[in-house]
Amino acid sequence: MSIRPNDEILQEPFWKALAQGQLRMQRCCECGTFRHPPSPICHKCASFEMEWTPLGGGARLYSFTVARHSVHTSLDAKMPYVIALVDLDEGVRMVSSISGIAASDLRIGMRLKCSIEKVSADFALPYFVPEPETKTP
Ligand SMILES: [Zn+2]
Repeated sequence: MSIRPNDEILQEPFWKALAQGQLRMQRCCECGTFRHPPSPICHKCASFEMEWTPLGGGARLYSFTVARHSVHTSLDAKMPYVIALVDLDEGVRMVSSISGIAASDLRIGMRLKCSIEKVSADFALPYFVPEPETKTP
């Protein structure tokens, strides 16, 4: 048994894109503001117009905690795991998890990259993995 999101119509394009290997989020057609979780109206300009826009996947770690007690049997094999708040380069903060690094090596502000992991044929989850810092000249 796995944990799956509900079938709310507003969230459906987010989960369908992930199943196809893409991180997409709502973007306001009027002012360009990204919004997540999905909503029917822009919180900045009150427009109802939006499009589902692919994101680059780059992010920085805003905050995290380590879960040491499983709240669902599908998580037993992942214990302990990191629950993270990541700031996407497009200006959206989202909840996710980080893989590929020990929690003791995590640093606030470190670069991350989205890694979409298939759970089943029609369901995937967005995780984040460390990304090397790129030096700007
Ligand atoms: Zn807007």
